[in-house]
Amino acid sequence: MTDRSDTLRTSIATVSIAGDFREKLAAISRAGYTGIEIFEQDFIAFDGAPVDVGWLVADYGLEIMLFQPFRDFEGLPEPYRSRAFDRAERKFDLMNSMGCDLVLVCSNIAAAALGGIDRAADDFAELGERAGKRGIRVGFEALAWGRHINDHRDAWEVVRRADHSHVGLILDSFHTLSRDIDPQTIRSIPGDKIFFVQLADAPKIDMDLFYWSRHFRNMPGEGDLPVVDFMRAVAATGYDGPLSLEIFNDQFRGGSPVEIARDGHRSLMGLMDDVRRSEPDIRLPAPDMPPRAQCGGVEFVEFTTSEEEAAELAGFLSVMGFTHAGTHVSKQVAQWRQNDINILINTEESGFAHSAYQTHGTSVCDIALRVDDAAQTIERARMLGAETVTTPAGEGELSIPAIRGVGGGMVRFIDAGSDLARLWEIDFVPVAGAGDVSGVGLRRVDHLAQTMKYEEMLTWTLFYTSILDTGKVPMVDVVDPGGLVRSRAIQNDSGELRVTLNGAENQNTLAGHFIDRTFGAAVQHIAFACDDIFATAEALAARGFEALAMSANYYDDLGARFGLDEAFLSRLQTFSILYDEDAQGRFFQFYSRRRSSEIFFEIVQRLDGYDGYGAANAPFRISAQKRDLNGSPFTAATGN
Ligand code: MG
Ligand code: MG
Repeated sequence: MTDRSDTLRTSIATVSIAGDFREKLAAISRAGYTGIEIFEQDFIAFDGAPVDVGWLVADYGLEIMLFQPFRDFEGLPEPYRSRAFDRAERKFDLMNSMGCDLVLVCSNIAAAALGGIDRAADDFAELGERAGKRGIRVGFEALAWGRHINDHRDAWEVVRRADHSHVGLILDSFHTLSRDIDPQTIRSIPGDKIFFVQLADAPKIDMDLFYWSRHFRNMPGEGDLPVVDFMRAVAATGYDGPLSLEIFNDQFRGGSPVEIARDGHRSLMGLMDDVRRSEPDIRLPAPDMPPRAQCGGVEFVEFTTSEEEAAELAGFLSVMGFTHAGTHVSKQVAQWRQNDINILINTEESGFAHSAYQTHGTSVCDIALRVDDAAQTIERARMLGAETVTTPAGEGELSIPAIRGVGGGMVRFIDAGSDLARLWEIDFVPVAGAGDVSGVGLRRVDHLAQTMKYEEMLTWTLFYTSILDTGKVPMVDVVDPGGLVRSRAIQNDSGELRVTLNGAENQNTLAGHFIDRTFGAAVQHIAFACDDIFATAEALAARGFEALAMSANYYDDLGARFGLDEAFLSRLQTFSILYDEDAQGRFFQFYSRRRSSEIFFEIVQRLDGYDGYGAANAPFRISAQKRDLNGSPFTAATGN
């Protein structure tokens, strides 16, 4: 094909997000899409004439790119066949009134439908003839559960034989990939005969295709399907039409339309960037953005708190072996250090940190990540729709590039190649006599555990995986005595970036309680890595550190599960250390008792490449934490 469009045209089906029709349009427009797919149900529910729908959509600066669905059309015997054409004419009337020129016809699932490629092709040739007279084009989509046509290769053969200028193919990544059809087969289809492309991802779940499609689709990059391979094949055909999201997802229907629409747009930009990188010879209307950032770990974690609570937090850090190493040159920010770990305590009484304190109480307001190139990371995040933030810096101080994270907290980026590497030297004055920072052997941040409502987990997943070079580990269910918590880790190959996302379905769980008490602060616990768990535990105990006590039953069960000897078990129990093994290696972890703020700390040691987070221990740890709170199930569970 020649003269390909230079700008990416994006679209989203109105069914993908929550709200009434106007709310949906407002959210879609704000997220930056070119247009929409209009679902007939949305139109029927709307209290205006078709022509008003057209005007309303245009008022939001959007186009109606597709009208859908038109069902149960091809392969019907008489009298159903004539009736289907009559139905089609009525849809064409509607489309002419609202100003839409492309209709999606999905493959027939009716029991009355007859098979046969030629029969279907004849039906489409006639439909194309009738549509053409009305200035309308017809796109044929193979549903994964279609009665006779359930494969895009057969749908393409129907379109090819119909041989009509107004009949083309509609591809939907879910229908192709859910049936494990090789997306490479798309490469041989002429791009100008593909009228529209719908994109959706989904988690790998073995279930009925229809149910899977209607409840579990999600944005490209949020699931497990090879949507990038699908889109590479589409791009290779020369297709240059819109890319549209058609997502049926229970969480999205209950979520914020603005957030979900923004996630969708981010996913399309990220997807096209991946395609552009993997198909360098194809000229694509894709945004030219820097690559995903390589993350080398956490440079600092900043707490916001009040003057009074700061003393308690500082006292606790001191017990954990941290040293007050520096003081900010102009702000009320203290740097506490142990080896490679920097914890900042911010007690400013104005500005971002203070407003975060007013909203969430003592909480983590800022996380700084080490990346290969901070400026490029910010640019990529900006192109993916993140809000970049410039915080005022005093004369001669550094302005650390930042974006706003999903929950509103700040995520900053620091690299070795700029002045940012000299942060501690430029912005902080060393505390006289601070001396040695080796503490009790805590070396670095192993992981940050963030907690959110379950419906926000995919938003967080996409946020991290689209901006940073990281993978996602499949979700696991953690049983809390108060309900289920879904947990997923975002981590990179080097293991230097590890974030666990915990999605709470109700506030009776410890995670839900945390969200409730902190009004949505994200970081619930911080895990530090050490090289010798017993030495560190002993040093901590000597400093007055109180570990979260585990039940004796836990150790009995542990011994039985892994065949551990008594001496080893009793050593674990002495220090309340939890233990786990996987195919690679072994894992030790223990927790602080909860402090007055909602955040707690974990200390871990990974041996021989253990790559998990002790998920098997989580229910016992959570029970122990609940016991630790006032010695009884905590009050939120009973609604107090
Ligand atoms: Mg579809
Ligand atoms: Mg943890």
